[in-house]
Amino acid sequence: MKSPAGISMEAVAKHYETASGVVRALDGVTVDVAPGSSLAITGPSGCGKSTLLGLMGGLDQPTAGRVVVGGVEISALPDGRRSALRRGHFGLVFQSDSLLPYLTALENVALRFALGAGAGAGAGADEGAGGPERALELLADLGVPECAGRLPDQMSGGQRQRVAVARALVTGPAVILADEPTGSVDADNARIILEALLTAQRSRGATLVVVTHDPDVAGQLETSVSLAVGRLVPDRRGI
Ligand code: ADP
Ligand code: MG
Repeated sequence: MKSPAGISMEAVAKHYETASGVVRALDGVTVDVAPGSSLAITGPSGCGKSTLLGLMGGLDQPTAGRVVVGGVEISALPDGRRSALRRGHFGLVFQSDSLLPYLTALENVALRFALGAGAGAGAGADEGAGGPERALELLADLGVPECAGRLPDQMSGGQRQRVAVARALVTGPAVILADEPTGSVDADNARIILEALLTAQRSRGATLVVVTHDPDVAGQLETSVSLAVGRLVPDRRGI
């Protein structure tokens, strides 16, 4: 995969078959994120933001259209190869923190290295810096060094969310995708989380996409688009 990695979605649709009919979560979305740039995705609940981010991250395949990341058409790859690409090059922050409950914060973050995401991956994975050291450094940057030895159920929601951000950033990914990363935290923690994401983007030339309800967060990214029921609508800084 080319680094820095641009993201290009061409006429992407995602339809879900449900018992009550077809849900057209996305219907012909075309968007480009320049390599090393940052994009905010905003829009009301249920308009397809998480679906869009999931397709950028190769978590799912579109019903129609193409998703190309770093020159690789990820929407055409089989599941296994998409997962491998994701482990090697992507940092994902999910809407719910999704930490493994039986591992400490430090283990949750450092696990990314054990899964083989470290060596040579991303926009310049740390040479020489060991997994646990980098994990501890990030937990400190995110203001949760005291959580290193704690299990998720021994942390507050805001602390868990910051640990999840550390986990996404620890391997120095080329592409960082965050789904409402500041949705469940107070203003101070929101600032810390956004700063960590922006620092990771700028210092490594990573490409950053953040889904957010918060206009202050959106305003700090270079570009933004809005979704309305599965389609892009131009916004004040429309791209
Ligand atoms: P947002 O993140 O903007 O709140 P989502 O992308 O989660 O929106 O959902 C977009 C639409 O697709 C919603 O109507 C949602 O109910 C539907 N949807 C999302 N995931 C699924 C799924 N796995 N099966 C069926 N419908 C889904
Ligand atoms: Mg969502």
